[in-house]
Amino acid sequence: MPLTRRDALRAAAAGLAAAPTLFAVARAEDKKAPEFSLPKLPYAADALEPSIDALTMETHHGKHHLAYVTNLNNALKTDAPEFVGKPLEELLANLKKLPEKAQAAVRNNGGGHWNHTFFWDIMTPAAKSGAPSGDLLKAIEASFKSVDDFKKSFSEAAVKRFGSGWAWLVKTPDGKLAINSTPNQDNPLMDTSGTPLLGVDVWEHAYYLKYKNLRAKYVEEWWKVVNWDGVAARFASKK
Ligand code: MN
Repeated sequence: MPLTRRDALRAAAAGLAAAPTLFAVARAEDKKAPEFSLPKLPYAADALEPSIDALTMETHHGKHHLAYVTNLNNALKTDAPEFVGKPLEELLANLKKLPEKAQAAVRNNGGGHWNHTFFWDIMTPAAKSGAPSGDLLKAIEASFKSVDDFKKSFSEAAVKRFGSGWAWLVKTPDGKLAINSTPNQDNPLMDTSGTPLLGVDVWEHAYYLKYKNLRAKYVEEWWKVVNWDGVAARFASKK
């Protein structure tokens, strides 16, 4: 049976725990499936209740994320056909090498596809959330004093991001931890500022149905569904 793109994404996600590597939205080897496709959620749409309600998850994944995937495929086919089949990470780290008319669409929709695939994976039902431990805990304490101080700074970055965007915890090229935030669907792969370990989507579509204008409350509740094993696996990666 040919490997579908969805299978490849699932395999990439599943492979993280056994052999931690930089999270990669890997493209299927199957040449018949050169297009990106919407990955399945790694849990049921209501699995993150009450932090994230099922309707928000369904809309966010099934409508917003799907639109990024569709628009990314269309932009590549129409304006950068020679880049069809390239890994998403490679496209995002080399946006300026794309034909100029494709750059904005790939930045926004390719960023959207990568960010959301990452986002689903870095969350888990509250009962499995866990807590930072081992080397990750040591690194957080070394950079931010304590887990609580880290959460406070990260939440601030998320809440203060003006308009739509993301807050990130990254492992910098020298192996340290840093918090940053990006507008729109930009991410740390685009400026190679570090390897994303954790990210939170603060677009209104991520929280408005349940939290209305209360972004800070959404971020506070979001901490309960962080997949700390996933963060640790990415931190342990050599990349
Ligand atoms: Mn989103």
